[in-house]
Amino acid sequence: MKIAIAGSGALGCGFGYLLQKNGESVTLLDNWGKHIEAIASQGLKITVNRVEATENMAICRPHEATETMDVIFVFTKAMGLEAMMESIRHLIGKQTQIVCLLNGLGHLETLQKFVDKKQIIMGTTVWTAGIDAPGVTHFNGQGPVELQNSHPDEKDSAQKIVQMLQDSGLNGVYSENVNFTTWRKACVNGTMNALCALLDATIEKVFQSSTIDSMLNGIVSEFSQAAKLQDDVELDVEETVRYLKAVAEKVGAHYPSMYQDLANKRPTEIDFLNGAVAQASVKLGFQAPYCQKITDLIHAKEDILGIRELPKFSRTSPVC
Ligand code: NAD
Repeated sequence: MKIAIAGSGALGCGFGYLLQKNGESVTLLDNWGKHIEAIASQGLKITVNRVEATENMAICRPHEATETMDVIFVFTKAMGLEAMMESIRHLIGKQTQIVCLLNGLGHLETLQKFVDKKQIIMGTTVWTAGIDAPGVTHFNGQGPVELQNSHPDEKDSAQKIVQMLQDSGLNGVYSENVNFTTWRKACVNGTMNALCALLDATIEKVFQSSTIDSMLNGIVSEFSQAAKLQDDVELDVEETVRYLKAVAEKVGAHYPSMYQDLANKRPTEIDFLNGAVAQASVKLGFQAPYCQKITDLIHAKEDILGIRELPKFSRTSPVC
């Protein structure tokens, strides 16, 4: 299959590499100059589950690619998805399938601005990845990559991609309810990521704090109401809190990605997690004080670090 990886950072390089090793025709797309130069000149240096490799891979900027693709995996950060879709319009034909495994909420709506729902496959992944230097990445995992066609009349195209992922060692699984997995994963990110980023602590430390139960119950019940009212997804509060505690126990003394984003002065995906729940609360008429406060605090931190566009009034207002 002709495959493009639209956003070839940490996760994109991992998927692109394993798909190419399985014999697929893969083109990496990105707009980070040093990363493109490094991969084009020395190949992608990647460590997959502690095994190091170097692989020659086709890489270019989105506008430089010309062929219509069979499958496009989008792998930007949530806030980059719309711009990426804008820049790959010319690679999308009537049969092209778009696969979205981004963290966060609201991506189906963004994708539908560009393609028919029948061409969209949504999913989640529990594999993890990072960038060590331009052209040098690592990729770890064995857990499922869950996929489901977004249109209820479609199933075959996601099944084919699931098979291709399995053949590539990526543990593809067809999901009958990817909406639920997406909301539950957003809940993991909206609790662990946000709290560790704000409290400057590992998951283990945050989950040992004396106020963890009330924080988890508060945040999860807001996600649960949003999931029900917005997507008719049942996210049971008690069960989800138990699930979060089990994940925290397993992960232990780890700093999640939002913590690392702020530590490395990169904007966070908060608007697509707690921010999306706070927005839904205004639209759908329920209370989401935890999610609103968490979003405000993360934005304040982004402002302090100078990594977020400040609203115009705060640039000109006098300090009082
Ligand atoms: P990343 O920042 O490493 O990679 C994103 C890449 O997209 C970057 O290289 C960037 O240059 C490129 N990009 C963004 N906008 C672009 C545009 N308009 N044109 C060209 N290139 C563009 O991010 P990541 O860690 O790979 O994460 C991708 C998504 O997957 C996120 O939603 C993240 O939350 C989710 N996720 C990540 C992990 C992980 O362990 N890294 C695990 C599960 C889910």
